[in-house]
Amino acid sequence: MKSVAVIGSGVAGLSCAYYLLKAGYKVRIITASHCPDEQCCSWWAGGMLAPYCEQESAEPLVETLGLESMAFWQQFAAQHQLSYQAHGSLVVAAPRDQSLLRQFSEQTQGASWLDNEQISGLEPDLGHFSRALWFENEAHLEPRAVVLSLWQACQSAGATIETDRRLSLSEIEGLKGEVDWVLDCRGLSARDLMPDLRGVKGEMLHLHCPEVELSRPVRLLHPRHPIYLVPRPDNVFMLGATMLEVNSSKRASVRSMLELLSAAYALNPAFAEAQIIEIGVDARPAFNDNLPKVRVNDNCLSVNGLYRHGFLAAPAVARRVVDFINSGKLCDEVFDANHS
Ligand SMILES: Cc1cc2nc3c(=O)[nH]c(=O)nc-3n(C[C@H](O)[C@H](O)[C@H](O)COP(=O)(O)OP(=O)(O)OC[C@H]3O[C@@H](n4cnc5c(N)ncnc54)[C@H](O)[C@@H]3O)c2cc1C
Repeated sequence: MKSVAVIGSGVAGLSCAYYLLKAGYKVRIITASHCPDEQCCSWWAGGMLAPYCEQESAEPLVETLGLESMAFWQQFAAQHQLSYQAHGSLVVAAPRDQSLLRQFSEQTQGASWLDNEQISGLEPDLGHFSRALWFENEAHLEPRAVVLSLWQACQSAGATIETDRRLSLSEIEGLKGEVDWVLDCRGLSARDLMPDLRGVKGEMLHLHCPEVELSRPVRLLHPRHPIYLVPRPDNVFMLGATMLEVNSSKRASVRSMLELLSAAYALNPAFAEAQIIEIGVDARPAFNDNLPKVRVNDNCLSVNGLYRHGFLAAPAVARRVVDFINSGKLCDEVFDANHS
């Protein structure tokens, strides 16, 4: 049986490990994390699976990977009693920002226009908006539950998981001699081997607001501070937005928190009474074109650059990685031939 060492237990590493185990490989996961925890960017994600909304700024490849990954998550959720919410997503804008909504509709596909009555029918607590774009075929999931479930599924399928182990570059080099393949899925920490990897800081809040009920992610467009809100169970909402080019930062700024909270208030004034239950910050690993890449170096594959599409793209990228390990053919658009 061929053996693979996967370094990192974010959504990239665990998706690869899961596919490898299904394909019959012996898998050893080595991670600096203690368990699925706040040490990985995947912990802070919104969990939006929004391949159509992302067309606004992403390359077409993101949609291709996204649609494939959504099929994977739907099946995985059904098998592991996870919640996969296929209620679509809504995009709204204040009356003065209606031109942004029109622009968003021109840059994306897969949406229909809703009027005030239709918005109220879907989301009564957004009934004060006159128009919205509804992306009916989008979905969302709860990233922490998903990462935990992937972790457990890998363990049940026979993977060994070595936790609290931050490998040095020389240890990674040594690992190459111990197994058939090494997958480097260290997220932003892999900048030591990939200097063109950059961090895009994202800040988020979890709010508890019993006065607001929402069933689907909502994006509020704004010329400077667009935000999104993702519903979690029990009237908890993940509020996120910021995209700042900084390689690492573990602290949220007052400016970002003010912007996020004012935007939540604009979405529904009842958020003024919400309780802040968590503030989180992390930097998304990204390359210049904001597309995921797999780089091959001897028997080591680097899987990285998932940017704001970790959950949207990781399973589809992982499937391609395992196809490559099986066949040796380097023919897919996620493989970065310039750096092999
Ligand atoms: C605020 C925010 C919101 C987001 N929302 C979404 C969203 O709605 N939808 C979506 O699809 N994506 C979203 N993302 C993006 C997504 O979170 C990332 O693309 C994804 O988490 C990247 O996953 P990764 O596995 O590459 O890296 P990580 O999750 O960071 O995992 C890296 C792993 O490597 C380990 N590691 C690091 N160094 C070492 C070492 N030397 N030795 C051993 N282990 C090591 C770490 O402990 C960790 O386990 C969001 C991101 C942020 C910050």
